[in-house]
Amino acid sequence: MLQHPPAEPGMREEDIDTPALVLDLDAFEHNLDTMAALLAPTGTKLRAHAKTHKSPIVALQQMRRGAVGQCVQKVAEAEALAWGGVPDILVSNEVIAPRKLARLAALSGIARVAVCADDLAGISAIEAAAEHAGIRMTVLVEIDCGAGRCGVEPGPQAVALAERIAASPHLIFGGLQSYHGNAQHRRTPEQRRDAIAHAAEGTRRTVEQLRQRGLECAIVGGAGTGTFQHEAASGIWNEIQAGSYAFMDADYGRNEDPPPFRHSLFVLAEVMSAPRPGFAVLDAGHKAVAVDSGLPLVHGRPGLAYTGASDEHGNIKAEDPALAPRLGEKLRLIPGHCDPTVDRYDWYVGVRKGRVECLWPIAARGGMA
Ligand code: PLP
Ligand code: MN
Repeated sequence: MLQHPPAEPGMREEDIDTPALVLDLDAFEHNLDTMAALLAPTGTKLRAHAKTHKSPIVALQQMRRGAVGQCVQKVAEAEALAWGGVPDILVSNEVIAPRKLARLAALSGIARVAVCADDLAGISAIEAAAEHAGIRMTVLVEIDCGAGRCGVEPGPQAVALAERIAASPHLIFGGLQSYHGNAQHRRTPEQRRDAIAHAAEGTRRTVEQLRQRGLECAIVGGAGTGTFQHEAASGIWNEIQAGSYAFMDADYGRNEDPPPFRHSLFVLAEVMSAPRPGFAVLDAGHKAVAVDSGLPLVHGRPGLAYTGASDEHGNIKAEDPALAPRLGEKLRLIPGHCDPTVDRYDWYVGVRKGRVECLWPIAARGGMA
């Protein structure tokens, strides 16, 4: 159940209850517009990743700017989006549990739904769920184009899985999932370019081998915020799955050439203790901000550093005691990693020019699969 929201529309930002997840609406809209403008000349479509935002409201804003649909990572995310009116959803991940597949099949009454597979047994499980629901489920074959996560090797293994899908009366072969996860945050532009050039080679080879067998890839999906310009220019991928671009985070900001987006997502935190000169304690620790990709940065306050977190506390050190924040002062933190930070909150508090404008529930938050 959602908790009571930490703010009301019209309120000043400094009156929001903390810790709260604040979305700077001007920066957020700028990011959505920028992505749409960058992709338009390439002809490559955006299927934004909803594992970042977990909200049908955000999804529909992306789609109004031209996104063809959404990616999700879990069935619970697919449900939240479909129930919220998102018409086209790709689970960019393997789902093998029969109960989860039954839930996914049930959604096909209200949305176009597709899922990935990298194993014959997984395909059989999807087939059984589709047959039981009396539908045809679209299945993409996932290849490991370099990240070393899910997916079969590019080439014959992928072709064999695609042929198995295409031969089933309950399934539709939907194309390839080819996402290079660990290329996204490589720090130099050359490292990312080379990683995607390598990914492109295996992806192109697989698309060609499939074509030789009469199998066309309606979707060749992949790419994230760090590399999407390479995939979009490749002529191989036709759908871009970037998610973090809408919010940005401190870790993407550490790329040598950070992606062309603004920080729009902040954890608003309050100084609840200022016990020594040059030192303050915020009410935002591990339960308020994800630190798996580094500690948060303090936004707009040079000379202040977030130096450590415990469960409910965040330590702030000031370079010069004169710069230290006062008791009760509120600071905007830029999360190290946006996706798991969002998952800690029930509400986006949308802010424009210092005032709360909207409250959007984070409908798919939480650990549910
Ligand atoms: N596509 C897939 C399959 C992913 O797992 C991810 C993130 O991990 C993305 C796209 C989006 O990446 P980003 O949020 O870095 O844009
Ligand atoms: Mn992420």
